[in-house]
Amino acid sequence: MFSRLAAGTGDKMRSERQDTSGNGGHPGFEAFRQAMHGQLVERGEPGYDAARKVWNGAIDRRPALIAYCVDAEDVARTVRFGRASALAIAVRSGGHNLAGLSTCNDGIVIDLSRMKRIDVDAGRRLARAEAGLNLGEFDQATLRHGLATTMGVNSDTGIAGLTLGGGFGKLGRKYGLSCDNLEAVEIVTADGQLLHASAHEHPDLFWGVRGGGGNFGIVTAFHFRLHPVPARLPVCTALYAWNQARQAMLHYEAFARVAPDEIAADAALLTQPSGERFFSVSACHVGPDGTEDAKQAALRPLLESGNPADARIDFVSYLQMQSASDALFARGRRYYWKAQFLRQIVAGAVDAILDAYARAPSPACLLVFQHVGGAIARVPDAATAYANRSADFDCFPLAIWDDPADDDKHRAWARGLWEAVRPFSTGGVYANNLGEEGADRVRAAYGANHARLVAVKRQYDPDNVFRLNQNIDPA
Ligand SMILES: Cc1cc2nc3c(=O)[nH]c(=O)nc-3n(C[C@H](O)[C@H](O)[C@H](O)COP(=O)(O)OP(=O)(O)OC[C@H]3O[C@@H](n4cnc5c(N)ncnc54)[C@H](O)[C@@H]3O)c2cc1C
Repeated sequence: MFSRLAAGTGDKMRSERQDTSGNGGHPGFEAFRQAMHGQLVERGEPGYDAARKVWNGAIDRRPALIAYCVDAEDVARTVRFGRASALAIAVRSGGHNLAGLSTCNDGIVIDLSRMKRIDVDAGRRLARAEAGLNLGEFDQATLRHGLATTMGVNSDTGIAGLTLGGGFGKLGRKYGLSCDNLEAVEIVTADGQLLHASAHEHPDLFWGVRGGGGNFGIVTAFHFRLHPVPARLPVCTALYAWNQARQAMLHYEAFARVAPDEIAADAALLTQPSGERFFSVSACHVGPDGTEDAKQAALRPLLESGNPADARIDFVSYLQMQSASDALFARGRRYYWKAQFLRQIVAGAVDAILDAYARAPSPACLLVFQHVGGAIARVPDAATAYANRSADFDCFPLAIWDDPADDDKHRAWARGLWEAVRPFSTGGVYANNLGEEGADRVRAAYGANHARLVAVKRQYDPDNVFRLNQNIDPA
């Protein structure tokens, strides 16, 4: 293994037999290992198989080494070791990347999941959060003070990958993307330096990390602005039978397009285990002000539109709402999706979606609309690396299955649905919802911001050390 070779047993034959890491060892390894505050797990060691897993069970990669860092120094020394030993570097926080970009074959995974410190300054409504926190852990810590910032819909997702790519969530239309709520980041760059980036320090780098993903370095901590959230908030849920779905989808679109910023209305096509298909809308009112009656009144048009099979308004805590769909996205199942932005959901798109959804290969498959716009759209496109702010909906078929023998049919179904909707899309895509789809699609995610991203990449990572991501190629 890595360490035995590095320690130099003097027995070449024996070392070669033991080198299951596939890297041939590195002279600096022993010093690196001794300096680490966290833990190294080498290929072949006990615990390796659990350590190499990521959220998507369809990803099966075998890194040479997993470095569980516990502080920024660990991150910096692992970057330096990775570069010196010419190993590919993958960065993993929550491990949720669909395409498995947070792991690799034969390289190093720099894992931040043990860095979970969070400090909340309730008076100034600020939080410093280490990169290993997941959304549920972050929300719990800030909600002790009645505060939150925009985070996504699945508790298990990492705050790091989500924020660096943009960050949609129920608070987004009111307060902007997760990355719009950043005051600063602490980041280890490709040369192993720890920098503090904000509007005043390394402003180009700060611009790039707000949407540009992990291209510019490894963020070890985020400084977020927080906002008050009510102790309980109304969530309107409406379920429509398949034969009502067309009309209901058009009603949903009309409601969502003119909804105030306080309302986030997401929707999905779903199938019950019985095989019965439904259209489901879930809309919440996150406004900190106003009476509960007024908030319910703002949601009521959804209850009164169409002919729902079931419709109600419940008052729930913010945490209950944030974790409501956790069970849908269990770790280890097989997943594939392909996303695009829509400005409107026109009748032609509805017909194309219903037609393609009806061919879903298994009941767990979904078609999702995530409601964006509002405050997100009022930030100028050039203000941060995140582009595509004028869209109102992110739309994606989401295939979920368990048997590897079913891989092809699920992926083909999702791609087919995506193609059917393509004529109605803006052409843009959310970088965090990209799979391995090639350079053109990365450009589609960044639009006019792409050229500046290349310039920032050339400044901070000219050798493309951080390339296992939606890559901005410095060349
Ligand atoms: C079930 C599910 C629900 C989701 N819901 C939402 C949602 O509601 N809103 C939304 O916006 N997105 C959502 N996403 C997409 C999510 O934002 C991305 O998958 C994101 O990359 C996950 O972050 P992570 O830290 O878990 O990912 P990881 O897989 O750990 O990392 C993803 C990428 O981010 C980079 N990265 C990770 N950590 C760091 C770091 N500390 N420094 C630098 N780069 C780093 C790496 O380049 C890596 O390739 C969802 C994804 C899933 C699977």
